[in-house]
Amino acid sequence: MDFEFSKELTELQREARKFANEKIRPVADKLDQKAVFPRDLFTEMGQKGFLGLPFEKKYGGTEKGTLAYMTVAEEIARASLGVALSYVAAVSIGASPIAMYGTSEQKEKFLRPLAEGRELAAFGLTEKTAGSDAKGVEMTAEKVNGDYVINGTKQWITNANYASLITVAAITGYKPSGEKIISSIIVPLDTRGVSVSSPYDKVGVRSSDTGEITFKDVRVPVENLLGEEEAGLKQLLNVLNGGRISIAAISVGLAQEALDKSLTHSLEREQFGGPIRQFESVQFKLADMATETEAARLLVQKACYLKDTGKTFIREAAAAKLFASEAASRNANRAMQIYGGTGFMRPAGVERLLRDSKILEIGEGTSEIQRLVIARQLFKEEGAKS
Ligand SMILES: Cc1cc2nc3c(=O)[nH]c(=O)nc-3n(C[C@H](O)[C@H](O)[C@H](O)COP(=O)(O)OP(=O)(O)OC[C@H]3O[C@@H](n4cnc5c(N)ncnc54)[C@H](O)[C@@H]3O)c2cc1C
Repeated sequence: MDFEFSKELTELQREARKFANEKIRPVADKLDQKAVFPRDLFTEMGQKGFLGLPFEKKYGGTEKGTLAYMTVAEEIARASLGVALSYVAAVSIGASPIAMYGTSEQKEKFLRPLAEGRELAAFGLTEKTAGSDAKGVEMTAEKVNGDYVINGTKQWITNANYASLITVAAITGYKPSGEKIISSIIVPLDTRGVSVSSPYDKVGVRSSDTGEITFKDVRVPVENLLGEEEAGLKQLLNVLNGGRISIAAISVGLAQEALDKSLTHSLEREQFGGPIRQFESVQFKLADMATETEAARLLVQKACYLKDTGKTFIREAAAAKLFASEAASRNANRAMQIYGGTGFMRPAGVERLLRDSKILEIGEGTSEIQRLVIARQLFKEEGAKS
Protein backbone atom coordinates (compact mmCIF):
# COMPACT_ATOMS: atom_id res chain seq x y z
CA MET A 1 0.00 0.00 0.00
CA ASP A 2 1.25 3.40 -0.97
CA PHE A 3 -0.20 6.48 0.73
CA GLU A 4 2.02 8.88 -1.23
CA PHE A 5 0.57 10.80 -4.17
CA SER A 6 2.55 10.49 -7.41
CA LYS A 7 4.49 13.55 -8.53
CA GLU A 8 1.90 14.18 -11.22
CA LEU A 9 -1.00 14.01 -8.77
CA THR A 10 0.76 16.28 -6.27
CA GLU A 11 1.27 18.79 -9.07
CA LEU A 12 -2.40 18.60 -10.09
CA GLN A 13 -3.46 19.08 -6.46
CA ARG A 14 -1.21 22.13 -6.20
CA GLU A 15 -2.67 23.56 -9.40
CA ALA A 16 -6.25 23.00 -8.20
CA ARG A 17 -5.48 24.53 -4.79
CA LYS A 18 -3.90 27.59 -6.42
CA PHE A 19 -6.89 28.01 -8.72
CA ALA A 20 -9.34 27.61 -5.83
CA ASN A 21 -7.45 30.07 -3.62
CA GLU A 22 -6.85 32.70 -6.28
CA LYS A 23 -10.04 32.50 -8.32
CA ILE A 24 -12.81 30.98 -6.23
CA ARG A 25 -12.09 31.83 -2.58
CA PRO A 26 -12.01 35.64 -3.03
CA VAL A 27 -15.52 35.66 -4.58
CA ALA A 28 -17.09 32.72 -2.72
CA ASP A 29 -18.98 34.76 -0.10
CA LYS A 30 -20.31 37.24 -2.64
CA LEU A 31 -21.48 34.47 -4.98
CA ASP A 32 -23.22 32.84 -2.02
CA GLN A 33 -24.90 36.01 -0.80
CA LYS A 34 -26.11 37.04 -4.24
CA ALA A 35 -26.85 33.44 -5.33
CA VAL A 36 -24.79 33.88 -8.50
CA PHE A 37 -23.50 30.97 -10.56
CA PRO A 38 -19.95 31.78 -11.78
CA ARG A 39 -20.12 30.51 -15.38
CA ASP A 40 -16.79 32.20 -16.22
CA LEU A 41 -14.97 30.15 -13.56
CA PHE A 42 -16.25 26.98 -15.21
CA THR A 43 -14.81 28.15 -18.53
CA GLU A 44 -11.43 28.49 -16.82
CA MET A 45 -11.78 25.09 -15.14
CA GLY A 46 -12.60 23.65 -18.54
CA GLN A 47 -9.47 25.21 -20.04
CA LYS A 48 -7.41 23.65 -17.26
CA GLY A 49 -8.84 20.23 -18.13
CA PHE A 50 -10.64 19.87 -14.78
CA LEU A 51 -13.93 18.94 -16.46
CA GLY A 52 -12.39 16.08 -18.41
CA LEU A 53 -10.24 14.38 -15.77
CA PRO A 54 -11.97 10.96 -15.71
CA PHE A 55 -12.82 10.78 -19.42
CA GLU A 56 -11.02 9.13 -22.32
CA LYS A 57 -8.55 11.22 -24.29
CA LYS A 58 -10.18 10.14 -27.52
CA TYR A 59 -13.35 12.02 -26.48
CA GLY A 60 -11.64 15.15 -25.19
CA GLY A 61 -10.85 14.04 -21.64
CA THR A 62 -7.48 13.89 -19.91
CA GLU A 63 -7.80 10.30 -18.61
CA LYS A 64 -6.28 11.11 -15.23
CA GLY A 65 -8.64 8.83 -13.34
CA THR A 66 -11.03 9.03 -10.41
CA LEU A 67 -8.46 9.80 -7.71
CA ALA A 68 -7.13 12.80 -9.66
CA TYR A 69 -10.66 14.07 -10.27
CA MET A 70 -11.66 13.69 -6.60
CA THR A 71 -8.48 15.42 -5.46
CA VAL A 72 -9.41 18.45 -7.59
CA ALA A 73 -13.02 18.30 -6.34
CA GLU A 74 -11.82 18.40 -2.72
CA GLU A 75 -9.66 21.46 -3.39
CA ILE A 76 -12.50 23.35 -5.08
CA ALA A 77 -14.86 22.48 -2.20
CA ARG A 78 -12.48 23.98 0.34
CA ALA A 79 -13.03 27.34 -1.34
CA SER A 80 -16.73 27.00 -2.20
CA LEU A 81 -19.07 24.06 -1.83
CA GLY A 82 -21.52 25.72 -4.23
CA VAL A 83 -18.96 25.80 -7.04
CA ALA A 84 -17.81 22.29 -6.13
CA LEU A 85 -21.34 20.87 -6.23
CA SER A 86 -21.91 22.24 -9.72
CA TYR A 87 -18.49 20.96 -10.76
CA VAL A 88 -19.10 17.39 -9.63
CA ALA A 89 -22.67 17.44 -10.96
CA ALA A 90 -21.33 18.44 -14.38
CA VAL A 91 -18.71 15.68 -14.38
CA SER A 92 -20.04 12.78 -12.29
CA ILE A 93 -23.72 12.84 -13.17
CA GLY A 94 -23.84 15.21 -16.16
CA ALA A 95 -21.17 13.84 -18.47
CA SER A 96 -20.55 10.40 -16.94
CA PRO A 97 -23.80 8.75 -18.10
CA ILE A 98 -22.68 9.34 -21.69
CA ALA A 99 -19.12 8.19 -20.96
CA MET A 100 -20.47 5.03 -19.32
CA TYR A 101 -23.31 4.08 -21.66
CA GLY A 102 -23.00 6.17 -24.82
CA THR A 103 -22.22 4.82 -28.28
CA SER A 104 -19.08 6.14 -29.96
CA GLU A 105 -21.31 8.53 -31.98
CA GLN A 106 -22.99 9.83 -28.83
CA LYS A 107 -19.63 10.27 -27.13
CA GLU A 108 -18.23 12.18 -30.08
CA LYS A 109 -21.29 14.41 -30.34
CA PHE A 110 -22.29 14.91 -26.70
CA LEU A 111 -19.37 13.94 -24.43
CA ARG A 112 -16.54 15.72 -26.25
CA PRO A 113 -17.74 19.32 -25.61
CA LEU A 114 -18.33 18.40 -21.95
CA ALA A 115 -14.97 16.70 -21.43
CA GLU A 116 -13.21 19.59 -23.13
CA GLY A 117 -14.98 21.93 -20.70
CA ARG A 118 -16.75 23.95 -23.37
CA GLU A 119 -20.22 22.94 -22.18
CA LEU A 120 -21.87 21.72 -18.97
CA ALA A 121 -24.36 18.89 -18.52
CA ALA A 122 -27.17 18.09 -16.10
CA PHE A 123 -28.77 14.93 -14.73
CA GLY A 124 -32.53 14.58 -14.49
CA LEU A 125 -33.93 11.94 -12.22
CA THR A 126 -35.78 13.89 -9.53
CA GLU A 127 -39.44 14.86 -9.93
CA LYS A 128 -42.15 15.81 -7.45
CA THR A 129 -43.05 12.11 -7.19
CA ALA A 130 -39.51 10.71 -7.50
CA GLY A 131 -36.97 11.51 -4.76
CA SER A 132 -35.40 8.63 -2.86
CA ASP A 133 -37.78 6.38 -4.77
CA ALA A 134 -36.43 6.71 -8.30
CA LYS A 135 -39.21 4.50 -9.65
CA GLY A 136 -41.66 7.29 -8.86
CA VAL A 137 -40.70 8.99 -12.15
CA GLU A 138 -43.75 10.17 -14.12
CA MET A 139 -42.04 11.84 -17.09
CA THR A 140 -43.04 10.05 -20.30
CA ALA A 141 -41.17 9.53 -23.57
CA GLU A 142 -43.45 8.18 -26.24
CA LYS A 143 -42.02 6.83 -29.49
CA VAL A 144 -43.58 8.63 -32.46
CA ASN A 145 -42.20 8.37 -36.02
CA GLY A 146 -38.57 7.82 -35.02
CA ASP A 147 -38.61 10.37 -32.20
CA TYR A 148 -39.18 10.29 -28.47
CA VAL A 149 -41.84 12.83 -27.50
CA ILE A 150 -41.09 13.82 -23.92
CA ASN A 151 -43.48 15.34 -21.38
CA GLY A 152 -43.02 16.06 -17.69
CA THR A 153 -41.09 18.18 -15.21
CA LYS A 154 -37.76 17.57 -13.47
CA GLN A 155 -37.13 19.48 -10.25
CA TRP A 156 -34.02 20.59 -8.31
CA ILE A 157 -31.71 20.06 -11.28
CA THR A 158 -28.13 21.24 -10.73
CA ASN A 159 -26.74 23.38 -13.58
CA ALA A 160 -30.18 23.48 -15.26
CA ASN A 161 -29.82 27.06 -16.49
CA TYR A 162 -26.27 26.60 -17.82
CA ALA A 163 -26.25 23.04 -19.17
CA SER A 164 -26.32 22.30 -22.88
CA LEU A 165 -27.89 18.88 -22.31
CA ILE A 166 -29.54 16.68 -19.73
CA THR A 167 -29.92 12.93 -19.41
CA VAL A 168 -33.47 12.30 -18.20
CA ALA A 169 -35.16 9.24 -16.77
CA ALA A 170 -38.51 8.80 -18.50
CA ILE A 171 -41.16 6.12 -18.88
CA THR A 172 -41.00 4.58 -22.35
CA GLY A 173 -43.51 1.78 -21.76
CA TYR A 174 -44.79 -0.83 -19.36
CA LYS A 175 -43.87 -4.48 -18.84
CA PRO A 176 -46.65 -7.12 -19.01
CA SER A 177 -46.58 -7.03 -15.18
CA GLY A 178 -47.53 -3.35 -15.31
CA GLU A 179 -44.09 -2.26 -14.10
CA LYS A 180 -42.76 0.95 -15.68
CA ILE A 181 -39.97 0.73 -18.24
CA ILE A 182 -37.75 3.69 -17.37
CA SER A 183 -35.17 4.69 -19.96
CA SER A 184 -32.38 7.29 -20.02
CA ILE A 185 -32.55 9.75 -22.87
CA ILE A 186 -30.17 12.57 -23.81
CA VAL A 187 -31.97 15.86 -24.42
CA PRO A 188 -30.18 18.97 -25.71
CA LEU A 189 -31.64 21.79 -23.66
CA ASP A 190 -32.12 24.07 -26.66
CA THR A 191 -34.72 21.66 -28.06
CA ARG A 192 -38.15 23.19 -28.71
CA GLY A 193 -40.57 22.65 -25.84
CA VAL A 194 -37.92 22.76 -23.07
CA SER A 195 -38.28 25.54 -20.50
CA VAL A 196 -36.04 26.15 -17.52
CA SER A 197 -36.94 28.23 -14.49
CA SER A 198 -35.30 29.01 -11.14
CA PRO A 199 -38.03 29.03 -8.55
CA TYR A 200 -35.79 28.09 -5.62
CA ASP A 201 -34.33 30.16 -2.79
CA LYS A 202 -31.80 27.73 -1.35
CA VAL A 203 -30.50 27.56 2.22
CA GLY A 204 -26.99 26.60 1.09
CA VAL A 205 -24.79 26.02 -1.99
CA ARG A 206 -26.32 29.22 -3.29
CA SER A 207 -23.65 29.68 -5.96
CA SER A 208 -24.63 26.35 -7.49
CA ASP A 209 -27.35 26.72 -10.11
CA THR A 210 -30.51 24.72 -9.40
CA GLY A 211 -33.50 24.81 -11.72
CA GLU A 212 -36.75 23.23 -12.71
CA ILE A 213 -37.02 21.92 -16.27
CA THR A 214 -40.35 21.41 -17.99
CA PHE A 215 -40.64 19.33 -21.15
CA LYS A 216 -43.72 19.92 -23.31
CA ASP A 217 -43.91 17.68 -26.39
CA VAL A 218 -40.12 17.77 -26.66
CA ARG A 219 -38.96 15.68 -29.63
CA VAL A 220 -35.54 14.06 -29.78
CA PRO A 221 -34.50 11.30 -32.21
CA VAL A 222 -34.59 7.72 -30.88
CA GLU A 223 -30.79 7.72 -31.41
CA ASN A 224 -30.65 9.80 -28.20
CA LEU A 225 -31.57 6.76 -26.13
CA LEU A 226 -28.67 6.04 -23.78
CA GLY A 227 -27.76 2.37 -23.44
CA GLU A 228 -30.68 -0.03 -23.34
CA GLU A 229 -34.30 1.07 -23.13
CA GLU A 230 -35.20 -1.36 -20.32
CA ALA A 231 -32.01 -0.70 -18.35
CA GLY A 232 -32.33 3.08 -18.13
CA LEU A 233 -33.04 3.31 -14.44
CA LYS A 234 -30.38 0.77 -13.52
CA GLN A 235 -27.87 2.74 -15.59
CA LEU A 236 -28.71 5.99 -13.82
CA LEU A 237 -28.48 4.33 -10.42
CA ASN A 238 -25.04 3.06 -11.45
CA VAL A 239 -24.09 6.61 -12.40
CA LEU A 240 -25.11 7.67 -8.88
CA ASN A 241 -22.76 5.07 -7.37
CA GLY A 242 -19.86 6.97 -8.94
CA GLY A 243 -21.45 10.32 -8.13
CA ARG A 244 -21.43 9.42 -4.46
CA ILE A 245 -17.65 9.33 -4.39
CA SER A 246 -17.65 12.89 -5.66
CA ILE A 247 -20.12 14.06 -3.00
CA ALA A 248 -17.84 12.38 -0.46
CA ALA A 249 -14.80 14.16 -1.91
CA ILE A 250 -16.39 17.60 -1.70
CA SER A 251 -17.54 16.73 1.84
CA VAL A 252 -13.89 16.15 2.73
CA GLY A 253 -13.09 19.58 1.28
CA LEU A 254 -15.69 21.26 3.47
CA ALA A 255 -14.62 19.26 6.54
CA GLN A 256 -11.00 20.31 5.95
CA GLU A 257 -11.96 23.96 5.53
CA ALA A 258 -13.90 23.88 8.82
CA LEU A 259 -10.82 22.44 10.54
CA ASP A 260 -8.40 24.93 8.98
CA LYS A 261 -10.56 27.90 9.96
CA SER A 262 -11.00 26.53 13.48
CA LEU A 263 -7.25 26.06 13.94
CA THR A 264 -6.65 29.68 12.95
CA HIS A 265 -9.46 31.09 15.08
CA SER A 266 -8.50 29.02 18.12
CA LEU A 267 -5.07 30.66 18.04
CA GLU A 268 -6.22 34.20 17.32
CA ARG A 269 -9.14 34.43 19.74
CA GLU A 270 -8.04 35.05 23.31
CA GLN A 271 -10.13 34.56 26.46
CA PHE A 272 -9.06 34.08 30.07
CA GLY A 273 -5.60 35.41 29.27
CA GLY A 274 -4.67 33.27 26.29
CA PRO A 275 -5.78 31.68 22.99
CA ILE A 276 -8.93 29.54 23.32
CA ARG A 277 -6.98 26.49 22.11
CA GLN A 278 -5.52 26.34 25.62
CA PHE A 279 -8.84 24.74 26.64
CA GLU A 280 -9.14 21.00 26.44
CA SER A 281 -12.71 21.21 25.13
CA VAL A 282 -11.47 23.17 22.08
CA GLN A 283 -8.52 20.81 21.60
CA PHE A 284 -10.84 17.79 21.64
CA LYS A 285 -13.03 19.35 18.99
CA LEU A 286 -10.00 20.05 16.79
CA ALA A 287 -8.73 16.50 17.31
CA ASP A 288 -12.09 14.99 16.35
CA MET A 289 -12.33 17.25 13.30
CA ALA A 290 -8.87 16.23 12.08
CA THR A 291 -9.47 12.53 12.71
CA GLU A 292 -12.83 12.42 10.96
CA THR A 293 -11.57 14.43 8.00
CA GLU A 294 -8.66 12.05 7.54
CA ALA A 295 -10.89 8.98 7.89
CA ALA A 296 -13.34 10.41 5.34
CA ARG A 297 -10.51 11.15 2.90
CA LEU A 298 -9.21 7.60 3.21
CA LEU A 299 -12.69 6.22 2.48
CA VAL A 300 -12.82 8.41 -0.63
CA GLN A 301 -9.38 7.25 -1.73
CA LYS A 302 -10.30 3.58 -1.22
CA ALA A 303 -13.44 4.00 -3.33
CA CYS A 304 -11.35 5.78 -6.02
CA TYR A 305 -8.85 2.94 -6.01
CA LEU A 306 -11.60 0.35 -6.46
CA LYS A 307 -13.25 2.31 -9.28
CA ASP A 308 -9.97 3.02 -11.05
CA THR A 309 -8.97 -0.64 -10.93
CA GLY A 310 -12.33 -1.82 -12.26
CA LYS A 311 -13.45 -3.46 -9.01
CA THR A 312 -16.89 -3.28 -7.37
CA PHE A 313 -17.18 -0.09 -5.35
CA ILE A 314 -20.89 0.29 -4.51
CA ARG A 315 -20.60 -0.30 -0.75
CA GLU A 316 -17.39 1.70 -0.43
CA ALA A 317 -18.82 4.66 -2.39
CA ALA A 318 -21.94 4.70 -0.21
CA ALA A 319 -19.84 4.39 2.96
CA ALA A 320 -17.57 7.23 1.83
CA LYS A 321 -20.57 9.45 1.06
CA LEU A 322 -22.32 8.59 4.31
CA PHE A 323 -19.34 9.11 6.57
CA ALA A 324 -17.82 12.10 4.78
CA SER A 325 -21.09 14.04 4.50
CA GLU A 326 -21.94 13.52 8.15
CA ALA A 327 -18.34 14.36 9.17
CA ALA A 328 -18.59 17.57 7.12
CA SER A 329 -21.78 18.56 8.93
CA ARG A 330 -20.28 17.74 12.32
CA ASN A 331 -17.15 19.73 11.49
CA ALA A 332 -19.14 22.75 10.33
CA ASN A 333 -21.09 22.62 13.58
CA ARG A 334 -17.93 22.28 15.66
CA ALA A 335 -16.33 25.18 13.80
CA MET A 336 -19.35 27.33 14.61
CA GLN A 337 -19.00 26.42 18.28
CA ILE A 338 -15.27 27.19 18.32
CA TYR A 339 -15.97 30.55 16.67
CA GLY A 340 -18.70 31.38 19.19
CA GLY A 341 -20.64 34.57 18.42
CA THR A 342 -18.11 35.58 15.74
CA GLY A 343 -19.13 32.47 13.78
CA PHE A 344 -22.78 33.46 14.00
CA MET A 345 -21.97 36.61 12.04
CA ARG A 346 -21.72 36.28 8.28
CA PRO A 347 -18.24 37.77 7.66
CA ALA A 348 -16.53 34.89 9.51
CA GLY A 349 -17.65 32.53 6.71
CA VAL A 350 -18.43 29.71 9.12
CA GLU A 351 -22.20 29.97 8.83
CA ARG A 352 -21.81 29.31 5.08
CA LEU A 353 -20.07 26.03 5.86
CA LEU A 354 -22.91 25.05 8.17
CA ARG A 355 -25.61 25.96 5.63
CA ASP A 356 -23.73 24.34 2.74
CA SER A 357 -22.92 21.12 4.55
CA LYS A 358 -26.53 19.97 4.87
CA ILE A 359 -27.01 19.24 1.17
CA LEU A 360 -24.21 16.67 1.38
CA GLU A 361 -26.40 14.45 3.57
CA ILE A 362 -29.33 14.80 1.15
CA GLY A 363 -28.20 15.01 -2.50
CA GLU A 364 -27.46 11.90 -4.59
CA GLY A 365 -29.16 9.75 -1.97
CA THR A 366 -29.79 10.72 1.64
CA SER A 367 -27.79 9.27 4.53
CA GLU A 368 -30.67 6.87 5.15
CA ILE A 369 -30.49 5.61 1.56
CA GLN A 370 -26.70 5.17 1.85
CA ARG A 371 -27.28 3.00 4.93
CA LEU A 372 -29.78 0.92 2.95
CA VAL A 373 -27.31 0.52 0.08
CA ILE A 374 -24.52 -0.50 2.46
CA ALA A 375 -26.72 -3.04 4.26
CA ARG A 376 -27.94 -4.52 0.95
CA GLN A 377 -24.38 -4.86 -0.30
CA LEU A 378 -23.33 -6.51 2.98
CA PHE A 379 -26.08 -9.10 2.60
CA LYS A 380 -25.11 -9.68 -1.03
CA GLU A 381 -21.45 -10.17 -0.09
CA GLU A 382 -22.50 -12.51 2.71
CA GLY A 383 -24.62 -14.52 0.24
CA ALA A 384 -21.71 -14.71 -2.22
CA LYS A 385 -19.44 -16.18 0.48
CA SER A 386 -21.82 -18.96 1.52
C1 LIG B 1 -29.61 21.56 -4.17
C2 LIG B 1 -30.09 20.27 -4.76
C3 LIG B 1 -29.57 19.83 -5.97
C4 LIG B 1 -30.05 18.65 -6.56
N1 LIG B 1 -29.58 18.28 -7.80
C5 LIG B 1 -30.17 17.24 -8.43
C6 LIG B 1 -29.85 16.94 -9.80
O1 LIG B 1 -28.99 17.58 -10.41
N2 LIG B 1 -30.52 15.93 -10.41
C7 LIG B 1 -31.47 15.18 -9.78
O2 LIG B 1 -32.03 14.28 -10.41
N3 LIG B 1 -31.78 15.42 -8.48
C8 LIG B 1 -31.17 16.44 -7.80
N4 LIG B 1 -31.51 16.72 -6.49
C9 LIG B 1 -32.45 15.85 -5.78
C10 LIG B 1 -31.80 14.99 -4.71
O3 LIG B 1 -31.05 13.97 -5.28
C11 LIG B 1 -32.92 14.49 -3.79
O4 LIG B 1 -33.29 15.60 -2.99
C12 LIG B 1 -32.53 13.32 -2.94
O5 LIG B 1 -32.34 12.17 -3.71
C13 LIG B 1 -33.59 12.99 -1.87
O6 LIG B 1 -34.88 12.96 -2.36
P1 LIG B 1 -35.99 13.88 -1.68
O7 LIG B 1 -35.40 15.20 -1.43
O8 LIG B 1 -37.22 13.83 -2.52
O9 LIG B 1 -36.27 13.23 -0.28
P2 LIG B 1 -37.38 12.14 0.10
O10 LIG B 1 -37.22 10.95 -0.76
O11 LIG B 1 -38.71 12.80 0.14
O12 LIG B 1 -36.93 11.76 1.56
C14 LIG B 1 -37.38 12.47 2.73
C15 LIG B 1 -36.87 11.73 3.95
O13 LIG B 1 -37.37 10.39 3.97
C16 LIG B 1 -36.31 9.47 4.05
N5 LIG B 1 -36.59 8.26 3.27
C17 LIG B 1 -37.16 8.18 2.03
N6 LIG B 1 -37.23 6.89 1.65
C18 LIG B 1 -36.69 6.15 2.63
C19 LIG B 1 -36.46 4.74 2.83
N7 LIG B 1 -36.77 3.84 1.91
N8 LIG B 1 -35.88 4.36 3.99
C20 LIG B 1 -35.53 5.25 4.94
N9 LIG B 1 -35.71 6.59 4.81
C21 LIG B 1 -36.27 7.03 3.67
C22 LIG B 1 -35.10 10.20 3.45
O14 LIG B 1 -33.89 9.64 3.89
C23 LIG B 1 -35.33 11.62 3.96
O15 LIG B 1 -34.85 11.73 5.27
C24 LIG B 1 -31.03 17.88 -5.88
C25 LIG B 1 -31.53 18.30 -4.64
C26 LIG B 1 -31.09 19.48 -4.09
C27 LIG B 1 -31.70 19.93 -2.78
